[in-house]
Amino acid sequence: MLRRILTPLLIALSALTLTLAGAAPATAAPAERSQPLRQTVLYYDASRAAEYTSAVSSAVRVWNYSVSNVRLEPAPVGRHAEIRIIADNGWPRAQLGPVRPGGQVVVWMGRQGTAAGYDAVRIAAHELGHSLGLPDAKPGPCSSLMSGSTGGVNCTNPYPDAYERSRVEANYGSGLTGQRAADGQLMVDRA
Ligand SMILES: [Zn+2]
Repeated sequence: MLRRILTPLLIALSALTLTLAGAAPATAAPAERSQPLRQTVLYYDASRAAEYTSAVSSAVRVWNYSVSNVRLEPAPVGRHAEIRIIADNGWPRAQLGPVRPGGQVVVWMGRQGTAAGYDAVRIAAHELGHSLGLPDAKPGPCSSLMSGSTGGVNCTNPYPDAYERSRVEANYGSGLTGQRAADGQLMVDRA
């Protein structure tokens, strides 16, 4: 009898804990946040990101803080990486997702973006936004991540806005059935 009362109470408490964890501040370590049900984990390989390695890490932290249904983790050596990040001398660009576990898209951290004065972390977060299925939203304000270069050369905001977050949540929110596959189209971010 006691068990019949306690079980729903424990379930309610777990749900409350998940809700509270979702509202955790940016300073919370990933291990302190509860994993939502059916969270998709995508692995990324930044071994060829060269001088953009730390910008990529910052952009990954931004995405992991901003959304719950998908999480980005560095690929252990020898493991398939769904997102490969490569520095080169072109414009920043990326293949449009949403990439699925076992699939693959590429992000190119083209040096022409930072050479023109644009912020490396915002570029990395923007290109990862493409990997997660967000198209460009140009022209747009600095508050929009997918406005890219049209947010202005002085714009350093690496955070997706509420609409962009909700689109990524939706892209990864319904489990593996009925999900849209990666588009694969190349999105080139010329300034
Ligand atoms: Zn773009």
